[in-house]
Amino acid sequence: MSKSNVYITTAIAYVNDKPHIGHAMDFLYADVLARYYRQEGHKVVLGTGVDEHGLKIAEKAADKGMKPKEYTDSIVPSWLEFADKLGMKYDNFMRTTDPHHEKTAQKIWKDLEKYIYKSAYVGWYCVGCEEYKTETHVKETENVCPLHNREYEKIEEENYFFALSQFNDEIKKRITDGSFKIVPKKRRNEILSVLEEGLEDISISRPKSKLAWGIPVPGDKDHVMYVWFEALMNYITVLGYPDEKDFKDFWPAHTQVIGKDILRFHAAIWPAMLLGLGIELPKTLYVHGHISADGKKMSKSLGNVIDPVEVISKYGLDTFRYFFTRHISSYEDSDFTWEKLDSAYNDELANDLGNALQRVVSMVVRYQDGVIGGMPESNHDIGAYQDAMEECRFDHALDAVWDQVKGVNQYIELEKPWQIAKEGDEEHLKEVLAEAASSLMQIGELLKPFMPDTSKKIIQTLSEGVIVAPKTSLFPRFE
Ligand SMILES: [Zn+2]
Repeated sequence: MSKSNVYITTAIAYVNDKPHIGHAMDFLYADVLARYYRQEGHKVVLGTGVDEHGLKIAEKAADKGMKPKEYTDSIVPSWLEFADKLGMKYDNFMRTTDPHHEKTAQKIWKDLEKYIYKSAYVGWYCVGCEEYKTETHVKETENVCPLHNREYEKIEEENYFFALSQFNDEIKKRITDGSFKIVPKKRRNEILSVLEEGLEDISISRPKSKLAWGIPVPGDKDHVMYVWFEALMNYITVLGYPDEKDFKDFWPAHTQVIGKDILRFHAAIWPAMLLGLGIELPKTLYVHGHISADGKKMSKSLGNVIDPVEVISKYGLDTFRYFFTRHISSYEDSDFTWEKLDSAYNDELANDLGNALQRVVSMVVRYQDGVIGGMPESNHDIGAYQDAMEECRFDHALDAVWDQVKGVNQYIELEKPWQIAKEGDEEHLKEVLAEAASSLMQIGELLKPFMPDTSKKIIQTLSEGVIVAPKTSLFPRFE
């Protein structure tokens, strides 16, 4: 039986600034999932894209004395470079200024027209969030957005509204019956309580007189679409919706990866749009937490912003990928410190993994002229690893791999191959080293989605007919 197709998305990135660690997490998690399902024999599309409209981009471009499109043209290549640096291998990429996206957004608007109406909007807006804010929220935060340290704008205008409230019960039902799965549970409960209170209709356009930079509302030259409303459509336009094969073959998404700050867009507005269009909902929405640094929220003014590119240039890509999937919780908020990164590198990568490989290789070279006799199929149970991957618990999946890494070292300590060599029991020695090598081969396989380069080195080293000790260790210790 052929395996189901798998479509994974990163959150669509808003390109008003350079990519930061939050984007890196989206890209990394989505890439790990894509690699995992590819390895499991599925056909996989990893889709990503950039969100280029809205007030924040218009402001940023104006600051730089550029037209909005000129500005986004200048910054988009750096986002693609960033994806490369993180080792993210995406298949499809879509800009929201792409003619296909713009044309399709207008078609979708028309297809949703029975849920769209015009009405007066009076309320608040945070340009930083590109989000309308409720009166209660504005009061609670004393008129300043805590995320952006910026006053809300009071908006009074005639806008188009989307009848989000009509979809409230259906979305609740899909989440409750598990057909639209949200992990972790905490985020699922969070959105369920929003649904319990009841969704309100949302404004989905801005008058062109106030914001010209957006996709025109079809049939009304005085309005442009609200940036989030059309940006969410990127998840299907990137597959060539409505007519292209990728959409037919790969939608509904297997997993959409997002950060917790944009839960409401993806767990309420997006499913409502899909239901309105008569399109299936994604199967899973995976919501990761935020990262702080040294116990504090990262901010430019505190100077504690962790630049993923800096981590990669100091420690290497695989160490970055390892640390941020294992030591940053897959479900909760986490704190980053350089000390934690250092000790993960030294204790786990150099000591546990690097040593296990080096010891086995050097004994095979020394005692058996580099020939591993009859490596058995590894029979370690990988159920815990697979279960963790299915639940996007990357940290737990790597814990399971590390149990096995430690197991190899313990096995060597216990069996003492150097002793067996001294006693001259060649058969037994061969068995012991082959067992250890086979376990390492399996570790190499399990690490493939996380540490592609390390995985390749382990497998290549052990697959040679006559193996030789690698010139450098996998993770040389820092002096
Ligand atoms: Zn804000």
